[in-house]
Amino acid sequence: MASRNDRIEGVLLATAAGDALGAPYEFEPPRGPELEVAMTGGGPWEAGEWTDDTAMAVAIAEVAATGADLRDESAQDAIVARWHEWSRGAKDVGVQTDSVLRSAAIGSVITAERARAASAFLHEDTGRTAGNGSLMRTAPVALAYLHDEDAMVQAARSISELTHFDPDAGDACVLWCSAIRHAALTGELDVRIALGHLDSDRQELWSERLGAAERSAPTAFPNNGWVVAALQAAWSAIATTPVPEDDPAAGTFRADHLRLALDAAVRAGFDTDTVAAIAGGLLGAAYGASAVPLEWRALLHGWPDLTARELVGLAGAIARRGRPDSFDFRYPGYQTGALAAHPYDEKVLLGGIGALRHLPDGVGAVVSLCRIGDDDVRTDIPHVEVRLIDREDDDENPHRDFVLLEAVRTVERFRREGRTVLLHCVEAQSRTPTVAALYGARLRAVDTGEALEAVCGALPNASPNPAFREALQRLGTAVVTAQ
Ligand SMILES: [Mg+2]
Repeated sequence: MASRNDRIEGVLLATAAGDALGAPYEFEPPRGPELEVAMTGGGPWEAGEWTDDTAMAVAIAEVAATGADLRDESAQDAIVARWHEWSRGAKDVGVQTDSVLRSAAIGSVITAERARAASAFLHEDTGRTAGNGSLMRTAPVALAYLHDEDAMVQAARSISELTHFDPDAGDACVLWCSAIRHAALTGELDVRIALGHLDSDRQELWSERLGAAERSAPTAFPNNGWVVAALQAAWSAIATTPVPEDDPAAGTFRADHLRLALDAAVRAGFDTDTVAAIAGGLLGAAYGASAVPLEWRALLHGWPDLTARELVGLAGAIARRGRPDSFDFRYPGYQTGALAAHPYDEKVLLGGIGALRHLPDGVGAVVSLCRIGDDDVRTDIPHVEVRLIDREDDDENPHRDFVLLEAVRTVERFRREGRTVLLHCVEAQSRTPTVAALYGARLRAVDTGEALEAVCGALPNASPNPAFREALQRLGTAVVTAQ
C-alpha cells in the first residue's frame, strides 16, 4: 500500500506546511483575494519556520515513534517533559498551555499527573479552557493507532486533557484524529466518522457545528482561538474549497486541493497558523506527502532543528510503531554511476545516485527522485527530495503527473537562482529521464516526445516506464509554456 505510506507521511508534513504558511499572518484580520498568502516568514518567524503547533506535535510524535502506547503514564510523562523543555526556549507558547506547564512544573521536573491536575484546576477556576491548543497538536495521535480506533479515541482525549480540560477540546481532538486516521487508511475525507464516539448528548451539537462549517466560509468563524471555531474554520476551508479536476495539460490537479484549502484556511484570519496547521493534518492524510508543494517542502524547518525530511521520517516511524525501516538505502546491486549533462541545458546534470555520492564540481543544488538514506543528504546546498516510485501501478504514485511537474518546477527554480542542478534517481533509467524530458520540453517549447528522445540520446540506458511515458504525453505541449 504505497499510497497509504504517502498519506501517513503527509500528516506531519502538511501540518507544518499550514503552520508555516499561516505564521506571518497570525492575529491579522481575514485576507481578501487581493492580498498575497505565501510562506514568507514574518515577525519572529523565518520563511518556512513552523511554530508552536508543529513543535508540540513533534513532541508527541517523538514519543509515539518509539512505539509507546500514548495512553501510558510513562509516555505522557515523556510528552509533557518535552513540551516543558520546548516551552523554555520557545518564541511563542499559547496562553493556556503556558499556564498549565508553568504551574505543573517544579523546577525543570514535570509529570503528566501534575499537568492533568493543573489543567483541571484551571478549568474549575476559570471555566475557560477550550482554547485550540490541544487540537493544533493532535495529528500524530492518529498515526499511532492506525491499528486500533478505540485506543486512538482514548489517547486523543487523554492527551488533550493534559493541558485542555474542557470537553469541547477533547471532543475536537477525538473527531479530528479519527478523521485523520480514516483519511490515512482510505484516502477519504469524512469528518463525521467518529461522532458515535462522543457522549450521546454532544453528538447532535457537533453534527450541527460541522454542518455550519460546510455551509459557511472559513471567515465565518473569527473567534478561532476557541477550539470549536478553529475546527470549524479548518473544516470549512477543506469542505468549501472546490477540488480541482485533473487536467495535466492545463497544469491543474486534484492534488492542488491541499494547497488551495490551506490558502483558504490562512485567509480565515486571526489564529491563521493554527487553523491551517489543523487543516493540514487532515489534508496531508487525505492527499499524501506527494501533494505538498515542493517549494514549501524545501523551506520547512523548526523546533527541534528539524526539516521536512525528519517530519516524514517521524510519521513513518510512528506508523511502524517503533520498528526500524527495513528499506536498504545503499541500493546494492544497482548500476548507479550514470552521469550526463542535459542535452538542452549543460547546467542540469542527470545521474544515478552515484553522482550524489560523488558530487561533480560546481553542483549547487540537488533534486533527488528516489528515496535516500541519511548519509546521502546534502546539508551544504539546497537538496529537495521528491516522492516518485519507478512503478506503473497508480497506487504507487497517486499524483504522478503533479509530482513530475513539481519536480520540474523545482529544477527551474534552482536554475533561476543561477545554480547548477544535479537531477538524479537510482540508475537514471526511468525517473530522471522522464523529469529531464519535461524540463527540456518546457525550456525549448518542444513536444515532450522530442525532448525525451534527446534526453535518451544523452543517457544511453534511459528507458522510462510506460506509465511515465503516458504522463509525459498527458502533460504534453500545453504545459510547456505554462510556467
Ligand atoms: Mg502557532
